[in-house]
Parts: sequence; C-alpha cells; structure tokens
Amino acid sequence: MDFTPPARVQPLVARVREFVEQELFPLEPAFLNQEFSTLVPQLAEKRAQVKAAGLWAPYLPPEYGGLGLPLVEYAYISEELGRSPLGHYVFNCQAPDVGNLEILILFGNEEQKRTYLEPLARGDIRSCFAMTEPENAGSNPVLMDTTAVKEGGDYVIDGHKWFATGADGASFAIVMAITRPDADRHHRASQIIVPADTPGYRLVRNIPVMGGPGSDHASHGELRFEQCRVPQTNLLGPEGEGFRIAQERLGPGRIHHCMRWIGICERALDLMCRHALRRRVSSSSVLADQQTVQNWIAESRAQIDAARWMVLHAAWKMDQEGAYAARVEISAIKFFVAGVLDQVLDRALQAHGALGMTEDTPLSHWYRHERAARIYDGPDEVHKWVVARRILQSYRA
Ligand SMILES: Cc1cc2nc3c(=O)[nH]c(=O)nc-3n(C[C@H](O)[C@H](O)[C@H](O)COP(=O)(O)OP(=O)(O)OC[C@H]3O[C@@H](n4cnc5c(N)ncnc54)[C@H](O)[C@@H]3O)c2cc1C
Repeated sequence: MDFTPPARVQPLVARVREFVEQELFPLEPAFLNQEFSTLVPQLAEKRAQVKAAGLWAPYLPPEYGGLGLPLVEYAYISEELGRSPLGHYVFNCQAPDVGNLEILILFGNEEQKRTYLEPLARGDIRSCFAMTEPENAGSNPVLMDTTAVKEGGDYVIDGHKWFATGADGASFAIVMAITRPDADRHHRASQIIVPADTPGYRLVRNIPVMGGPGSDHASHGELRFEQCRVPQTNLLGPEGEGFRIAQERLGPGRIHHCMRWIGICERALDLMCRHALRRRVSSSSVLADQQTVQNWIAESRAQIDAARWMVLHAAWKMDQEGAYAARVEISAIKFFVAGVLDQVLDRALQAHGALGMTEDTPLSHWYRHERAARIYDGPDEVHKWVVARRILQSYRA
C-alpha cells in the first residue's frame, strides 16, 4: 500500500509546504512573543496571498471558494499546514470555523448560507461553537442546562457556556440549547445561530489557558446568554437534532485535528534532529551521538508514521462510508494521535534543554496549548471506551 500523497495532490502539497516555510515560519517569532490580535493585519495579507495563489481552504467545495479535496487528500495538506502554528489560520482551515462551515453546508438553508456560510468561507468573518458548559461534564454532551424557549417567532436563549474557541471577535456563535425538554435525551437539543451583536449575548472573558487569556482567534471564551432573542429561522437543521449535527461535526473535525497534530509532530522531530546534530555536549560529540536521543528520534519516527497511517485509513473510511461507519477508527486516532503528539513534543522539548522552555522555538507554545488535545472533542478515556465497547461487543455476540 502506498502512503505517499496521490499524484493529483503532490504539486499542491509542495506548494503549500513552500508557502508555509517561506511566508509563515518567518512570522513565528512575532506570533510566539506577541498577542495574536496585533498580528491579524499581517496575517490578513498572508491570507490574501494564499487566495491569490489558489490555495485557499482546500477542503471547501469550489462553489465556496475552496479546492474541494476529499478528506484523504486534504490530510496531506493539513499536515503541511500543521508544521506552523499559523498554517491553518492563514489558509482558513482553523477550528472551529472549519466545523461550522461543514455543518452550515450540510444543514444551513439558503438564507443562512448567504448570511453566515459565504462570508465565513471567504474569511471575512470568524465564528465560534458554544456547546460546553462549566456546570456540566462536557464529556457527556447530552448533559446541558442552556435553554432556548419559543416565544412569538423567536427563541429566547438562557445559558452559560465556556471554552468557545475564538469567541473573541467572532461574528456569530452556533449554540447548542435545549429546545424540547421532554424529548428523549438525544433529541432535546438544537443548534441555533446567534449573531454576537444580539442583545443578551455576552462574552464574559477570554479564559486564561496555560498562562494567558489569548486574543482574537487564539482564545477560548466564556459566554453568557441572558434572555437572548433570535428569530426561530436561526435554527440550524431540524429541531431536536442538535446532538446528531454535533456528531456530524465532530467526525471530520477529529480527523482534521489529528492531521494537524501529525504536522506538529513532524516539525518537532525536525527541530529535535537539527538541534541534536548542532548541540555540542563534549569536545568530541554532539547530542545526536547519545543513544537516549537516538531512541527518542527512532521512537518518534515510528509513532508518527503509525499515527499517519491510522489517520489516512480513518479518513479513507470516512470518505467511503461516512462518519458513523468510521466512528471506531475516529475514536482510535483521536486518543492515539493525541498521545503521540504529547510524547513527541515532550521529547523534542527535553532535547532542547532550557531552549525548549523559551519562545525561541514553537515547542513550548505547542507543549502548553496542545496538552488540550487529550481533552477537547472528547477526552482520551471516552474514546478508549468507544473502541473497547466495540471490541467487547463482538465477544458478547
Ligand atoms: C483548548 C480547548 C478548546 C475547546 N474548544 C471548545 C469549543 O470551541 N466549543 C465547545 O463547546 N467546547 C470546547 N472545548 C470543551 C471540550 O470539548 C471539553 O473540555 C471536553 O468535551 C471535556 O469536557 P469537560 O472539560 O467538561 O470535562 P469532563 O467531562 O468534566 O471530564 C473531566 C475528565 O473526566 C474523565 N472522564 C470524563 N468522562 C469519562 C468517562 N466516561 N470515562 C472515564 N473518564 C471520564 C476524563 O479524564 C476527563 O478529562 C474546548 C476545550 C479545550 C480544553
């Protein structure tokens, strides 16, 4: 079996790689040492360059300005983008917008597509996804207190959300709220589009995460909805189907994250190898001569390759049979690749010594912020449970 990029995407992969290395690597020192918001104008210029080069949003269908790549082809691009912490944002492939774009394509009506999907696809606006609540275990998404009550032609939303990535500066949120309290637990919630300038919509704060609150896209917001009134026409998809739509969103979303993490791993391994060859540890040897470091390099190489092949297989299965059929593979890569990321970053940082703790390489940024990979979109333990349950089912049968 051949795991090199299909011939069709190879030139694209090469162009994306070149762009990331030449245009984005030089911006990393500023990204690592400044607030994201101060960098937005420069990043807007880079986004314009990406569009002009015909590389914009490769996963989006052409009618929305993208390249229409299937998941398994986009996987190779996403890996390239993941090699810089700026890659996905500059190519308009960043979470949570990518997931919101997908559900707007699948479930949005014509008006919603015009108002929200099209400007989001162009990169003119950003969005956030407000599902998790501080008072409820996010691991069990059917637990929720936020309500949307019908009144006249409106929904009146009351609730408390947090960790809405990119809420700072987002033009709208897709909010999960209980609309049918008496239905069974999988049919109580709906997804509703709420513009950020709606009275009663309040960004309470950017939550300090691993040392800082961040800003703009690079932040996680706490939100309050207080008698927040939107027309019932802002319902996304059928009423009571919020849970199902969230599942639709999370399937490809998890594959997207895994692809990005593999790109991060590749960069971390690259940095580790270069540093190990450069760093003198005695008059006659460099770090790369030490067997411990050689073990780290070999183990990382093997783990990254295993992770990539699992992700490509999951993406292929999802392209062929859909998210539901691929759910066990998706759960398996979610915890496996997050674990590989954790280990590869830790080794690369350790190999850099004190330098690894600084902002002179992207390692410490990733080490802090990608720890969350084992928590968001379902913690490790929940995904392991999904996989184990499936295996045990076959024994019970
Ligand atoms: C950086 C980041 C970005 C995020 N972005 C978004 C976003 O944009 N929108 C949004 O709505 N949410 C977002 N989230 C929230 C995220 O989806 C939740 O944190 C996640 O679902 C886990 O929920 P929780 O934090 O409430 O943990 P809990 O559900 O309270 O779980 C805590 C821990 O308990 C353990 N656990 C839970 N359930 C089980 C189980 N069944 N079996 C064994 N162990 C278990 C796990 O170790 C878990 O880590 C984000 C979170 C982070 C950290």
